[in-house]
Amino acid sequence: MNDLCLTHARIVTPQGIVSGCLSVLDGKISHIGGKQPARQEVDAGGKLLLPGLVDLHVHFNEPGRTDWEGWAHGSAAAAAGGVTTVVEMPLNAVPATINAQALALKVAAAGASSCVDFGLWGGLVCDNRAELPELLDGGVLGLKAFMYETGDPSFPAAHDGILYSGMAQLAVRDLPLLVHAENSQIIHTLMADFQAAGRSDRQAWLDAHPPISEVEAVARVLLLARATGCRLHIVHVSLPQAAQLIVDAQNAGQNVTFEVCAHHLTLTETDFLELGAVAKCGPPLRSAADVDGLWELLLTGRINSLASDHSPCPSAMKPDGSIWDAWGGINGVQLTLPLLMTEAQQRGLSAEAAAQLVARYASHNPAHIAGLPGKGAIGVGLDADLVLFDPEAVWTLRAADLKSLHPWSPFLGREFTGKVERVWLRGQTLYGGGAVAGGMRGAWVRPAGV
Ligand SMILES: [Zn+2]
Repeated sequence: MNDLCLTHARIVTPQGIVSGCLSVLDGKISHIGGKQPARQEVDAGGKLLLPGLVDLHVHFNEPGRTDWEGWAHGSAAAAAGGVTTVVEMPLNAVPATINAQALALKVAAAGASSCVDFGLWGGLVCDNRAELPELLDGGVLGLKAFMYETGDPSFPAAHDGILYSGMAQLAVRDLPLLVHAENSQIIHTLMADFQAAGRSDRQAWLDAHPPISEVEAVARVLLLARATGCRLHIVHVSLPQAAQLIVDAQNAGQNVTFEVCAHHLTLTETDFLELGAVAKCGPPLRSAADVDGLWELLLTGRINSLASDHSPCPSAMKPDGSIWDAWGGINGVQLTLPLLMTEAQQRGLSAEAAAQLVARYASHNPAHIAGLPGKGAIGVGLDADLVLFDPEAVWTLRAADLKSLHPWSPFLGREFTGKVERVWLRGQTLYGGGAVAGGMRGAWVRPAGV
């Protein structure tokens, strides 16, 4: 007897769409195809059943900045967006996750409040190399480093020497280094020049991030990783020409992957000039031609993973005045799935093809990159992390729909085609009827053997 049988579903599996039933026993998918006896039956009504998304790039800011977001609100937003596993970044919480003690605090905070399963990235900063063995032993899935100096003293950028020797430590363990690849000196020099000239306009933010600032950093970090044998994952690539460098490296045999964020696939620099602070992020939004170029790469299988880079903050940190004063980040974990489904269909894909695209790049591949074998796909024996998605529902985003603590979004007022209807985490209802189920607790996912 199964615990659950979902009937009349269009099930999105790595092998294609299967119309039929999916059964769950003890939190795992037990059968796909025909109807099986189960204690509970749910009629999926012919809607799409996707694997829960695996978002490798969220900032939930807890411990230390729970007033920015926190695990309770952040994970609720994830759940409502069909994201059943998040891997959280080491910065923007206090303390930053750069040693074993900070990791213990992060695990405690997440374990107490997250309603979705979670993994954690540690930080490689200048200079915590002596603390890395203990941090890596503690169960992080890899490390994140910034080539760009954000100005956050708790997470200083890793210069080339730190990248090089940190990569060597990671290579021994076959864990990935995630890198924010932007040339710090180019951007900071331009920002200082513009500020000295009295500029604080939105265009100045774009002008301070010329394509070379991303392309140069991507090229450099590829060289460093190749020299050390480190597995590299470049986050939020925003330019097709930067992506092409990575694709070329892959074709030459290098062990490197990269992600593109939903906002870089659905917003342009023109949107940023209109919306202002709410759409400020780094790298910034790019031209419509760049967005088209990223879609061409995605539709031809050359992007490895899709993520949100969910980076919330209090609304007051997105002021309308000087663009330099606004927090750089977009709060988006709840919207990745509906954004991608909507945009993919506008670009000519059927709902089923769009769902397969999302399942592959926002669930399956990220789970593989992070080393989470039980996650990321619908298959017998895997975790029953499932999203029932109504591809026909047309709706408009309102602030009240957002589960984030501070429900600002550059997508307010946008019309979506397709809606998350119900979500299961390891076979338990996590979200339905517009509400996150009470009492759900996510599990910590870590590398095998930790
Ligand atoms: Zn980020």
